[in-house]
Amino acid sequence: MPTERTPTARVWTLESYFPVFNGPDMVAFKEKLQNDLGQLMADAQQTPDLDPDAADDWEKIVLALEDAQTRLDHWSSYLSCLEAAHADEEAYPLERGEIDRTRAALKRIDIELVRAFKKAEAGCFEAFTRRRALLPIAYHLGRIRSRGRFTMSPSLERLAADLNLDGIQAWGRLYDRLSGKLSFKLPLADGKTEVKPISQWRSLMAHPDRKIGRAAFEAGNRAWQGIEDVCAAALNAIAGSRLTLYRHRRRAHFLDEPLFKAGIQRQTLDAMYAAVRENIALPREFLKIKAAAMGRRQIAFFEREAPLPVAVAGPLSWSRAVELVDSSFAGVYPAQGAHFRRMMRGGWIESDVRPNKRPGAFCTRSKLTGEQRVFMTFNGTLGDVTTLAHETGHAWHGHLLKAMRPWAQNYPMTLAETASIFAEHVLAEGLYRRADVDEGQKLAMLDEDLSGMAVLLLDITTRVTFEQAFYEERQAGELSVSRFKDLMVAAQRETYGDVLAADGEDPYFWASKLHFYISGLSFYNFPYTFGYLLARTLVARFREEGQSFLPRYEALLTASGSNTVETVVAQALDEDITRRAFWREAIRGLTVDLGRYRKLLSAHT
Ligand SMILES: [Zn+2]
Repeated sequence: MPTERTPTARVWTLESYFPVFNGPDMVAFKEKLQNDLGQLMADAQQTPDLDPDAADDWEKIVLALEDAQTRLDHWSSYLSCLEAAHADEEAYPLERGEIDRTRAALKRIDIELVRAFKKAEAGCFEAFTRRRALLPIAYHLGRIRSRGRFTMSPSLERLAADLNLDGIQAWGRLYDRLSGKLSFKLPLADGKTEVKPISQWRSLMAHPDRKIGRAAFEAGNRAWQGIEDVCAAALNAIAGSRLTLYRHRRRAHFLDEPLFKAGIQRQTLDAMYAAVRENIALPREFLKIKAAAMGRRQIAFFEREAPLPVAVAGPLSWSRAVELVDSSFAGVYPAQGAHFRRMMRGGWIESDVRPNKRPGAFCTRSKLTGEQRVFMTFNGTLGDVTTLAHETGHAWHGHLLKAMRPWAQNYPMTLAETASIFAEHVLAEGLYRRADVDEGQKLAMLDEDLSGMAVLLLDITTRVTFEQAFYEERQAGELSVSRFKDLMVAAQRETYGDVLAADGEDPYFWASKLHFYISGLSFYNFPYTFGYLLARTLVARFREEGQSFLPRYEALLTASGSNTVETVVAQALDEDITRRAFWREAIRGLTVDLGRYRKLLSAHT
């Protein structure tokens, strides 16, 4: 099929959120929300801890808070769309400030709930969550109570929150400021150098010309070396603050809080990584095949994201992209295809290319209207088509969750990427079946897919290995710059093994990877490996069982905010994710993809 030269894309419609930004409807909406929250706070403060006498009052507060949060999220989702689509508009940062203040007011009511549930007698709490109006959100209520078990006294928690601003969060801000300003001197072919902002570092390292990639890597790391002491101080302080708080909150292990947030048990995490390490040869094999295609045996850590040098046909038009996604969904998973058409008809997708749009892509939704919106910028690559499928996969998840109460729609990060990765596979299945998609494009797409796999199973595993080793040692005191480098190099060696060239390590990855410096979240890594492997298992089942598998898949997505991940998977799939065998199967499925990759590669070269 011939492709149009210029991609023409779509602008979304947002009127179902509010007819006009800060028009009369929106102003009245915000006023009512803020009044309701004020009233709710007064009610909550006056209500004694949960006991049979206070149960009616607490039920009213819970239901009103659930409703208020749904309205706040609606407002916030609307603003996220506007902020992304018009990054230059000055009114939006001010509006975001107002949302943050409203969220803080809501958070204070949530603290009252923790206080009320924490000391409630077990039988009384159980009876409370069994009430007709509360049973559908019993899991969420149980988590509020659990949070109470690991909090200090209210006055100490307030002190900790106040000190956090100048402590852990200040270290995070310092890192953001320094790393954001960082630049490096890229050597050019003519012997001169060019100053580049660090934001261009990653794409330069993945440059198809490997000499440029290496020069960028080395120059960038000299810049990181220049701020190594500050990075080490920040990392030591961030982890140190956390460990101190964990001790005072009586957390037995530094992984307990990340695991609680992820909705999984320690046993599940350990089983997953045991299976990954046991089968690490498979993801390494992909990098070996790729290195061989480029005439080499090994790679360096910095080039793990470099693309395969294949020539692909020119830019795709937006209508062609839509047709590819639509036909793949319709042929492989009709219900999701129908939802995709609904989104297209409703103008729920923004893909236009124009200035002042934020980079990247996301899906957001309103639990109030039951609608989703997808944001992206379509530049005509096959990667953009994958992004379209990925984000509409998130939208499908959101659509299925409409059947649940708002507080039963909040899934953990471990289940956040299930539907999106599944949708990418549905697209890929559809495309492989088509004769009018050229083999070069199929190869480029599979290469991108498997590169993503290598990030999730090797790069992320490296980060988990490093972060765990770091936290273990940090309990006894601060680590030096050279110790950070040693731990990072050891983690890379252990994970990448013989595919990593001698001297191919990146000893400054602990400094350059901003995820280690996010002050609100530790171990921002394992949920990615988890989500990817779970999605792969679901795809494998779908391949085996066909359409009859889909009701179970949808049951899993629908229940994703209603229970622990172990229970959700057990109920939908009858599988035990605390066992290593479950994860082993997910990784071994890679053999099929590697076979396909080899075949496409040999046909192409
Ligand atoms: Zn996603």
